[in-house]
Amino acid sequence: MLIIDGKKVSLDLKNELKESVDNYKAQTGKVPGLTVIIVGKDPASQVYVRNKAKTCKEIGMISMVIEMPADTTEEHLLNTIKDLNNDPAVHGILVQQPLPKQIDEFAVTLAIDPSKDVDGFHPENLGRLVMGHLDKCFVSCTPYGILELLGRYNIETKGKHCVVVGRSNIVGKPMANLMLQKLEATNCTVTICHSATKNIPFYTQQADILIAAIGKAGFITADMVKPGAVVIDVGINRIEDASTKNGYRLVGDVDYEGVSAVASAMTPVPGGVGPMTIAMLLKNTLQSFQRTNGL
Ligand code: NDP
Repeated sequence: MLIIDGKKVSLDLKNELKESVDNYKAQTGKVPGLTVIIVGKDPASQVYVRNKAKTCKEIGMISMVIEMPADTTEEHLLNTIKDLNNDPAVHGILVQQPLPKQIDEFAVTLAIDPSKDVDGFHPENLGRLVMGHLDKCFVSCTPYGILELLGRYNIETKGKHCVVVGRSNIVGKPMANLMLQKLEATNCTVTICHSATKNIPFYTQQADILIAAIGKAGFITADMVKPGAVVIDVGINRIEDASTKNGYRLVGDVDYEGVSAVASAMTPVPGGVGPMTIAMLLKNTLQSFQRTNGL
């Protein structure tokens, strides 16, 4: 079985991005800038934000993190976003989710200028994706990373049956819509399963490409997978493990051991889809910089 190594691909991609950033800096004297806003002190969010800022700096982009207290008002957050929308040095704006309950996440998504929405969550970007204008939108980072992995591993997609389990706005829906597009790297027949789907194995067993984005550890078992399928595991779940230092370890939505005996190719967790998500965020930020500067 082929292990689709997201860690390696993300490193290659980051090196390519660094080269582009260096070249543009020499050419224009300008560098791309990403601003991340975090509200409150959710430990997982803090780790994500730190990693994003660190990776940004590694490839030579300007990274700014705005930390706000948990009792920040929606008005204050929206005003900050407005200022960033008007700041020419900021090419990408990202507001880390989840947000405290006094803040409406959708209002925040709508407030970000679509041309700086490097997360690809704004309805304008999602709408353009659905219409197939991938060169004129930002594709949300996790589905975009999966597309990049499929491409770099020359996984055949045209005419294949892709089954996506999960229909969130940030993973499942954009993923399924991407695979549906009439593009060289997609062009699949697509089925989406969710929590109300009856008999999920009936669908997953027909998948040539199976993408699991559910948030349930080991949900996809070997008997649910067609022999030779390509399996992409988006899930990141903590399970207790007394043998580790922290008392837990991270596993995906796919039972890796069982499914690896059936699948032809598969992403591991960790080291599969996860590292690609940050790399694609930076790719989107670079894209925003290129569009702004006509490069
Ligand atoms: P959400 O919780 O927003 O969505 C989960 C989806 O799975 C929903 O559509 C839900 O259905 C569906 N679902 C839940 N339970 C079942 C079930 N028993 N049977 C069928 N479908 C079910 O999660 P996300 O999409 O944000 O994330 C999914 C997973 O991916 C999580 O583990 C998350 O941590 C991980 N993730 C990983 C990323 C990465 O970079 N690797 C990035 C983003 C997420 P319904 O709509 O009916 O409720």
